[in-house]
Amino acid sequence: MRQWITKIDGMGCDIHMLAEIREDGKTWKLIEECPCVSCDGTGKRTQGPPGDQKLVDCHWCDGIGVRKVKRAKSNEDYNEHPHPYTGQNYRLFSILAGVRRYDDDVEPVYPPRGIPEDACRYIKEAWKEEEGDGHTPSYLNVHEIEQAFVVRHGLLVEEHVQEEAKKDREWCKDFLDGTLKKLLLPIAEQIGKENVRIVFWFDN
Ligand SMILES: [Zn+2]
Repeated sequence: MRQWITKIDGMGCDIHMLAEIREDGKTWKLIEECPCVSCDGTGKRTQGPPGDQKLVDCHWCDGIGVRKVKRAKSNEDYNEHPHPYTGQNYRLFSILAGVRRYDDDVEPVYPPRGIPEDACRYIKEAWKEEEGDGHTPSYLNVHEIEQAFVVRHGLLVEEHVQEEAKKDREWCKDFLDGTLKKLLLPIAEQIGKENVRIVFWFDN
């Protein structure tokens, strides 16, 4: 069976995603606070073996339920970025950018396009920090994210469409129900789908 999601001691391919909005139709600005997707914004996570689970502070957001910009205090610390999504989800990576794509999967609807020239300074600097390790940078606005799924399903081989579309929804549930529905779409309803976008790249 295909294994789309893997997490082995932090190895494998990770996505580095940030989100931007363009309220005046001209200048892109970073979304500086994102609900923590690791704990669904609650600040708590369950830990321990089944039957002996404890509720502990989510270490991704220090128990506050949001991820925001945190500058490194020393050279040994890392800058903490407000990531709207952090899963190691190869099916999603394939849909967004063709990264970790299986041979029999369709090409991504939007081939990777690099970091946008008009990206906010924060994103340009974050990308520069990771140049060398980072690869396949791209971006998609909310309309394009939706199209990436819809158009893809039209491209899939006929008899597999329903089955694969269902799998997309299942496997990408955390991104579709969390990042897209809870964070990006509510803002897009206010200022337009073309004025909200994700910018991302990958490592390894
Ligand atoms: Zn959290």
